[in-house]
Amino acid sequence: MECNFCPRKCKVNRTENAGFCRVKGLTIARVGKHEWEEPCISGTRGSGTIFFSGCNLRCIFCQNDAISRSDYGQVISVDTLGKLMLYQQDSGAENVNLVSPTQFVGQIAEALEKYKPQIKIPIVYNSNGYESLEQLKRLEGLIDVYLPDLKYADNSLAMEYSSAPHYFETAKTAIAEMKRQRPKNVFVNGMLRRGVIVRHLVLPGNLDNSKKVLDYLASFDRNIYVSLMAQYFPTTDVKAHPLLGRTLTQNEYDEISSYFKQCGLHNGYFQELSSNSDEYVPDWSLENLKEVIGKV
Ligand code: SF4
Repeated sequence: MECNFCPRKCKVNRTENAGFCRVKGLTIARVGKHEWEEPCISGTRGSGTIFFSGCNLRCIFCQNDAISRSDYGQVISVDTLGKLMLYQQDSGAENVNLVSPTQFVGQIAEALEKYKPQIKIPIVYNSNGYESLEQLKRLEGLIDVYLPDLKYADNSLAMEYSSAPHYFETAKTAIAEMKRQRPKNVFVNGMLRRGVIVRHLVLPGNLDNSKKVLDYLASFDRNIYVSLMAQYFPTTDVKAHPLLGRTLTQNEYDEISSYFKQCGLHNGYFQELSSNSDEYVPDWSLENLKEVIGKV
């Protein structure tokens, strides 16, 4: 099979070779509860995350670089993936949260086609927004909550920071499709059962990009839910970068938070600046991962 799971369309045979995303078979890096998502995603019991290895972007500042730049993790079958979703449900998670799923969208669709009837909690598709429209259509009815990023409204920045050609058009098309599938956010007891939240990570020294992102979202749908993230921290690779080598200042985040309201958006999630630390990066222990896989 020639891989066309994402807009890069590498056309490699993933049973033999890795493409741009650097992973071949279905590989996961972590299964666990996550308490630091938006309140309507983490709730009181935690979000049932399944982190996938590799990535179809190459963000120079990647906050999860330990798992995104290699095939670090454990190869599993489609059936095991479905059983891990049931495991998250049985262990009381608020939802099943598929983190960085794009490079395995085909296997995810297969697992959900078989296991979704047994899963009563929402399935969350938590992606970087660099998605293939055709593949998203395949997920229709299988995904309850879409949590896409809109990282850039500036394609030159997307190339410089993430090596992603046509990022803005691609992510806009993806978000429009997600909204078509899940047009209305439905909350039950404060928890999101169905819908779309667009995330935007505010990058230091790049406020013009953030404003353009918010302008676009307000023009697309002023009622759209947006999560404005302040948690950026410089990883080792960008410590010396002239703009990305520091955390966000309170003034920068305040400016973008004010702009959010000025441009007409009103459904938002905001973060404390204290979230900008690597202490919030999950533990990538392979022992823990193997222990969980062994239980299903
Ligand atoms: S999922 Fe990976 S191999 Fe497939 S098209 Fe995208 S980057 Fe290439």
